Order: sequence, then structure tokens, then C-alpha cells
Amino acid sequence: MIRAYVALGANLGHPAATVRAALAALSGIPEATLVAASSLYRTVPLGLKHQPDFINAVAAVDTTLAPLALLEALFAIEARFGRSRSVKNAPRTLDLDLLLYGESRLDEARLTLPHPRMHERAFVLVPLAELAPECRIPGRAALSELLALCRDQGVARLEP
Ligand code: AMP
Repeated sequence: MIRAYVALGANLGHPAATVRAALAALSGIPEATLVAASSLYRTVPLGLKHQPDFINAVAAVDTTLAPLALLEALFAIEARFGRSRSVKNAPRTLDLDLLLYGESRLDEARLTLPHPRMHERAFVLVPLAELAPECRIPGRAALSELLALCRDQGVARLEP
């Protein structure tokens, strides 16, 4: 059994409801158990500025699926929520990223682990730190140091 972390993000439609429903969908993946979910956070978009704020969260999942099989399961959930892939950083109904798969490092065409941009994104690191403050990101500095470097990015916890 491997502990994996998944990032969730949405900024179209009803993003908080979408993220909550996507968390429920994660618990429906065969051979995977949703162990914990962070609070929801409202975050300012990086990249394309003129789009709605995002709602983000991170989930911890224990799984016996191989990394690519887990990624496929995440893509299937995105598709169910009507995600259409357009330009990079564009608004999206639901975006799921595989952040960590145990301490695996992988660099394949379809999957890079750890997620290649997670270490510089407060909207990932803040909810991840809520769930697993001591977690190690292979090849990167300690979570607390990474968090200090992106403190200026707007991330606000939603009231439950
Ligand atoms: P995005 O549109 O930003 O969600 O990126 C999705 C693309 O990134 C897909 O083609 C994936 O195969 C690829 N990808 C590479 N590594 C990862 C990862 N760790 N998690 C999610 N998608 C990944």
C-alpha cells in the first residue's frame, strides 16, 4: 500500500461544490482509500490573471494501484466533471494532479513524480502541510522552507 497525495482545483461553475464532490469521487476509486482531505482554500490564479479565483484542496489516498493507473483514475474523474483541456493555466471545471506517490521519482512522458511544479505553488503546499507537515518531497527542500518561499501567493482557508 502506497500513500499518494492528490491536488484538486476548480474555478468554474460552483468550484467548492465541485471539489467536495471530487473528494467523494476519489473515495470511489477501486483499490484506493481516501485517508484524509485538507480544508478547502480560495486561491488567486497564477499565470492567466483575468479569471475567477480557484478553490483548491489536497487529499491523501492509500492505494495499491500503480502510479499510471492512479493517474488514469484521476483523468476519468476529471472527465466525469466535464473538464475540457484548453490552454495551460486556463480556467477549468476540475483539475486533479498527482503530487506524490510514496517517495517515488518518475520522469515519463505522461507522468512526472513528484509533480514538477508542486514545490513552488502555495495552493498545493498550504493544504499539503495541513495534512502532512512532515512529508518529504523527493529532490526538494523541506516543506516549511518551500512554504516560506511562496508566502506572498494569496491562499485563504474557506470556513467549513
Ligand atoms: P494539466 O493540464 O496541467 O492538468 O496537465 C495534465 C498533463 O500533465 C497530462 O498530460 C499528464 O499526463 C501530465 N502529467 C505529468 N505529470 C503529472 C502529474 N504528476 N499529475 C498530473 N498530470 C501529470
